[in-house]
Amino acid sequence: MADHVLTLKHFFEEARAGRLTGIRCGKCGELAIPPKEFCPSCQDRNWAPVPLAGAGSITSFTVIRVAPRGRGAEAPYAVAVVRLDEGVSLLGRIVDIPFDALRADLPVRFRPLVTGEQTAIGFGPA
Ligand SMILES: [Zn+2]
Repeated sequence: MADHVLTLKHFFEEARAGRLTGIRCGKCGELAIPPKEFCPSCQDRNWAPVPLAGAGSITSFTVIRVAPRGRGAEAPYAVAVVRLDEGVSLLGRIVDIPFDALRADLPVRFRPLVTGEQTAIGFGPA
């Protein structure tokens, strides 16, 4: 059973390869990303992976000027909640878009941010 569940590890492996994958609840149809163990809508655990195109638009954003420990050299940077065209929202780091160009509804596109073994969710210009 667990073999059919998209794990967070697999989610980031796919993201590293440039593929964004969500999961859809087989019971109620809720779409979720990143993977969750149980459906937040109906509490079932009946997920099927869904490939996502990676295109969306900014819902809200924040410029991080004081970064978490160990990431100080990366600040300032912007993080945004992006609503994908498929209707699900995801937090990611904004790359290659000037801060003063950031606004709600700005179209963006997913891109993986790979640093060594780490993969993070990024969004660049659409
Ligand atoms: Zn559900």
